[in-house]
This record gives sequence, C-alpha cells and structure tokens, in this order.
Amino acid sequence: MSSAEPTPRGIAWRAKAQFPGYRLPDELLAVREQVRRIVQDEIVPIEQRIDPDAPDLPETDWQRLAAKTKAAGLWCLGAPEPYGGGGLDTFSLCVLLEEMAQHRMGLYNPGCGVFGRYPPWVIWGGTREQIEKYAVPALREGYYTFFAITEPSGGADPAGAIQCRAEKRGNDWVLNGTNVFVRTDKGKGREGISCFIIEKGTPGFNARRFKVIRTVAEPCEVSFEDCVVPGERMIGEEGRGLSLCLDLLTRNRFPYSACNLGVAVAAHRMAIAHAKQRSTFGVPLSQRQAIQWMLADAEVELRACRWLIWEGAWKADRGEDARVEASIAKLYSSEVLGRTVDAAVQIHGGYGVSKEFPLERWYREARVRRIGEGPSEVQRMVIARSLFR
Ligand SMILES: Cc1cc2nc3c(=O)[nH]c(=O)nc-3n(C[C@H](O)[C@H](O)[C@H](O)COP(=O)(O)OP(=O)(O)OC[C@H]3O[C@@H](n4cnc5c(N)ncnc54)[C@H](O)[C@@H]3O)c2cc1C
Repeated sequence: MSSAEPTPRGIAWRAKAQFPGYRLPDELLAVREQVRRIVQDEIVPIEQRIDPDAPDLPETDWQRLAAKTKAAGLWCLGAPEPYGGGGLDTFSLCVLLEEMAQHRMGLYNPGCGVFGRYPPWVIWGGTREQIEKYAVPALREGYYTFFAITEPSGGADPAGAIQCRAEKRGNDWVLNGTNVFVRTDKGKGREGISCFIIEKGTPGFNARRFKVIRTVAEPCEVSFEDCVVPGERMIGEEGRGLSLCLDLLTRNRFPYSACNLGVAVAAHRMAIAHAKQRSTFGVPLSQRQAIQWMLADAEVELRACRWLIWEGAWKADRGEDARVEASIAKLYSSEVLGRTVDAAVQIHGGYGVSKEFPLERWYREARVRRIGEGPSEVQRMVIARSLFR
C-alpha cells in the first residue's frame, strides 16, 4: 500500500461520518404536495372571486374544505396527538406552512384555516383540565383564539410595560386594566406577571376592535373592570406568566417565519412570471438587468431564509436552546418578506398596487411583520446580546 492510499482506519472513519444529505423525508414531501394542491386548486380560485380584503373564506367553502382536510388526515397537524392534532415537529410544520401561506390571505390566515387554526396557547402551558375544556373544542371546531400581552403602555418590553393588575379575593382573581398577562405582584417585576384564560362574555371583560393596515384578524383592545376570574383559569404558576409567554413566542417564531417565507416565495414567483410576459420598449422585462438583479437578490434571500428557518426549527425539535435562532428567523424572514414583496410590486408596475392581484394586500400586511411578535430592533437586541455573553 503506498503512503498516498487511505488506511483502513481512515476509510472506516469516513464511512461513518458521511453526510446523509438534505433530502426531505418522502412522507413529508407527499403531504407537502397534498397541501399545495388544496391551496392552489381550491383556495386560490375562491379568493379570486370574493372581496380582496375578505378576512376568511365563505362559511360553506370553509366547511367543505375543512371536511376534506380532516378526511385526508391534514387537520391541525401542529397540535399534540393526544388532543386531536397531528403531532408534527416544528421543522415539518414549517415545511408545510410555507405552502399553506401561498395565497392572498395566507400571511395571517394560512390555508384560510381549512387545515385547522393555530392551537390556543393553553395547549402548551395549561393543565389537562384547561386543555380539555378550552383547547380541544377550539382545535376541533377551528375557532380563532388570541393572546394579549401588549398594553397601551408598550409591547416591545412587556416586563417593563404591563400595568394591568390582578388582586386575589378568596379563590378568585379580580382583574383591572387592559390585558390578560397581568401583574399579580406589583413589587416583583418580571416574576410578578401571571397569565389567565378569559372567556368571552365574562362580566367586566370588554373587547374593542380597532382598524389597522391589515384586513384579516383585526386586533382588539381588551379591558377589564373588576373582572372576576376563578383561580383555576390561571395558566401555569403564579408569577411565571412572562416566562411562559416568552417560551410560547419563541416556539411560534419558526412557524411565523415559515408563513413570511411562503408569501415571499409566492410574490417572487408572480414577479418572475410577470417579467417573462411583459415587454417595455420592445424588450421583455426579464431581459433587463435592473429587473434580473432584483429577482436574483430575492432568490438568494429566499434560499438563505429557508435554511435559517429549517436549521433553527430542527435545533428546537432536538430540545436545544433555539432562542437566538428563533430571533434570527423572525427578523430575517420579516425583512426578506418586505423586500421581496416590494420588488414584486415594482416589477408589476400599476398592477402591483391593484386589488386584482394579492400583491397589494401582501405589501400592506408584510409591514406589520417587522413590528408584531417583537419588533425587528428587539430581535436584533436578542441576537446581539448572545454575541457578548
Ligand atoms: C395588527 C397588529 C396585531 C397585533 N396583535 C397582537 C396580539 O394578538 N396580541 C398582543 O399581545 N399584541 C398584539 N400586537 C401588538 C404588537 O405585538 C406590538 O405592537 C409590538 O410588540 C410592539 O409594541 P408597541 O407597539 O407598544 O411598540 P413599543 O414597545 O412602544 O416600541 C415602538 C418601537 O420602538 C422600537 N424599539 C422598541 N424597543 C427597542 C429596543 N430595545 N431597541 C431599539 N428600538 C426599539 C421599535 O422600532 C418599535 O417598533 C399587535 C399589533 C398589531 C399592529
């Protein structure tokens, strides 16, 4: 054996260390294809004939498609199996959400809810009784549920801003203020914040809708005036509300980012198609370097974005600390979404801002993604802190 030839030991090591590659599992690819067909063949045509600002599909269409996804085993895939969900890991869910979001309402209403809606947060932090009572029916029926942590005093820094108060009275809590994450102990800062389940119709609880740039899932300001909430509706332990919320926000950041990516991919695809078929000054837009560079930059950013989401979600699924990865995915996907949709609008010219196409709606809704669920600056702060630890 010459010295240039590998030793048997070297061969054995390399065989073990061989990288298996990045191919997605066949089952996941098959489900992704099923989801894609339902979105593109069923949801997109309905959206084209209804009000472009509609928040949801017409009820009859929703019922028909929800029945179809339930029968196909595609209902609530991200919720835990014992509670009627598909028990998918975050990585697989992200792969599917990228497809589910590729339609007009997709950013804030992926798949228009025909694949089930996001599980209510109590499912991740509640007791078995709370989950059975509140989460299971919401999952089964596809109800919308909400969480409220932002107060008029500020949302980027809830630990500092929360002013809503809860006072213990016997086994009950009496809430006053504008939130459901409330201070149960004034003197304790972030350790004095707790979380409650609030049922619609509870006396002293009010919700006021307010209009914003986005036309789906209009936010509400919720307020409490001597609102009595039984002790068993607290989620988690007293004083652990903020850490529960931050855990849930982190958990949600990968699926949230996957929706950003899905809409950006759809806008990019539209921009490419338009550039191919539209000519100005006798030349197709696709042959103009100015347009090619916009599309090339978007292509690079979308691929990078997908890997950032997939890598972070994979790490989270392995039980590793993925808080920084969650901030990176949320920050980058929100910003890439904004840039990609903006370029697609520009390439479409006047059509880009017409309600004939979904771009106008994506353009407006994408703006909220750099603010909601932690503004971009706060994500940068989290990432930067990790560099100096
Ligand atoms: C359409 C919509 C829906 C929403 N839905 C919900 C909901 O369902 N539940 C809920 O609880 N909240 C919801 N929110 C609130 C949202 O989460 C907050 O708007 C967000 O967290 C920012 O809080 P804020 O608006 O109070 O801004 P502030 O906290 O006042 O921050 C203002 C701006 O200051 C900058 N900033 C903040 N901190 C820093 C920093 N450390 N460094 C540098 N710059 C900084 C950022 O640019 C930020 O946008 C929703 C908001 C919108 C617009």
